[in-house]
Amino acid sequence: MAAKIISTQPKNDNSCGWIKQLPPRRSRPSLSGEQHADWVVLGAGYTGLAAARQLSILHPQSRIILLEGQNAGEGSSARNSGFLVDSILNEGHYSASNLEEYRKKYDIKHAGVEAVQRLVVELDIDCDLEENGKIHATAVKDHEKKLLNFSKLLSELELKHKILEGEELHQRLGSSHYCMGLWTEGGILLQPAKLARGMVENLPEQVELYENAPVLNWRKRSNAEGYQLYTPSGQVTCQKLIVTVNSFMASCGVKSNRTFPLTLTASMTRPLTEKEDESIGRPAPWGVLSAQSMGATVRLTKDRRILMRNTVEAWPAINMKFTDLKTRKVKHLEGLKRRFPRLAGDLFESTWSGTICISANNANVFTEVEYGMYAAGCYNASGIGLAVLFGTEIANLASGNMTDSIALIQTNSKPMLLPPQPFLRWGIGLRLLRDRFLARHEQ
Ligand SMILES: Cc1cc2nc3c(=O)[nH]c(=O)nc-3n(C[C@H](O)[C@H](O)[C@H](O)COP(=O)(O)OP(=O)(O)OC[C@H]3O[C@@H](n4cnc5c(N)ncnc54)[C@H](O)[C@@H]3O)c2cc1C
Repeated sequence: MAAKIISTQPKNDNSCGWIKQLPPRRSRPSLSGEQHADWVVLGAGYTGLAAARQLSILHPQSRIILLEGQNAGEGSSARNSGFLVDSILNEGHYSASNLEEYRKKYDIKHAGVEAVQRLVVELDIDCDLEENGKIHATAVKDHEKKLLNFSKLLSELELKHKILEGEELHQRLGSSHYCMGLWTEGGILLQPAKLARGMVENLPEQVELYENAPVLNWRKRSNAEGYQLYTPSGQVTCQKLIVTVNSFMASCGVKSNRTFPLTLTASMTRPLTEKEDESIGRPAPWGVLSAQSMGATVRLTKDRRILMRNTVEAWPAINMKFTDLKTRKVKHLEGLKRRFPRLAGDLFESTWSGTICISANNANVFTEVEYGMYAAGCYNASGIGLAVLFGTEIANLASGNMTDSIALIQTNSKPMLLPPQPFLRWGIGLRLLRDRFLARHEQ
């Protein structure tokens, strides 16, 4: 069978503020020569790391290879904003008629939160967990009804939450930018790179991790002979293949007509000085998600840094160059000044990009793609919990080990077919323009 050429490969860069906080570590070797394995997991983010871990539990005698194009766990799994959430606002499921649909999505996301909580305890990973909930907020009077609708939905689901307004909201955040907030109890804030690093460092010995080993192409040999994958310095054949590359899925030729990547950028300040912290009233750490899908995600971390993420773009799915990041940083600075006018100067210490995987109907990928090849991903910007859950469960599915979680995940709808190019590109462009306009006061 003809080989599928992979058009986009991941690359290491040293821009991400979360990764910079980690102690340096030596990369594992790259793949060399001709290897044979029972299992290959392609992509070592949260999903691939969880899948490889579960395979080693189910198949203690098998050879399991985990291939990663850059340093493991340093793609989007380390670059995200660290909101581990069970309920989300911007899914369009806040009307009563969609209650059951929303409940299903909630149950799956909640199972994801629990999967991370279990993992963190089991592996003793310190990733700065803050179990104080999250805040959805708006700075626009007209958008308040979105929060009120969401509050109604949460009440029907009996999920603890609270509307925050006026002084209470301003003191909670140390900013008078927002006019309304909605706090939900379900929502954990964490340091994403520490979680990913903890998963890498605790990989079972049986899992052979090869780093800086981008797979450039792959082919199916036959049902009996399995798959063959090629990296710049080696190749591996395997009986079963699990693809966990998330936003790179389409470029790997997997579900390419159902998912597409978007690129996000974020900046993080140095820790605030005592005086700066005082000037904003020393609030407890918090995380704010915008009421608008293109609005800013903002965090005040435990170590008193502010994270600002307020751009979303269709971009070739590789990390942005320094010059591209510089122009995005201007937008982050504007967002910071809008919220904290008393914080003078450019406090940002780092600016980085990362990619997310999107489907048109907010559905996820969790499937046997073809005989012996499985894929999990496409978490639509909300994938910390789902990745850990789906990673574990795709390994179960591929092993014929059916679980209640698989049954739960399979109640989900499948990603719908996308229009062909160039209509897809035009459609995404128009949608981003519209969303950016609607969120112009929320960035
Ligand atoms: C800026 C930003 C903010 C976000 N904020 C949040 C948030 O607050 N909460 C939340 O839940 N989610 C958030 N997300 C989404 C979340 O980060 C992802 O859903 C999650 O990381 C998905 O994990 P994954 O393991 O499936 O994919 P990834 O972490 O992307 O891992 C896939 C891996 O595959 C590797 N790979 C790709 N192609 C190849 C190849 N050809 N050969 C070898 N290896 C390859 C990549 O290098 C990568 O390491 C955010 C994402 C971004 C970018």
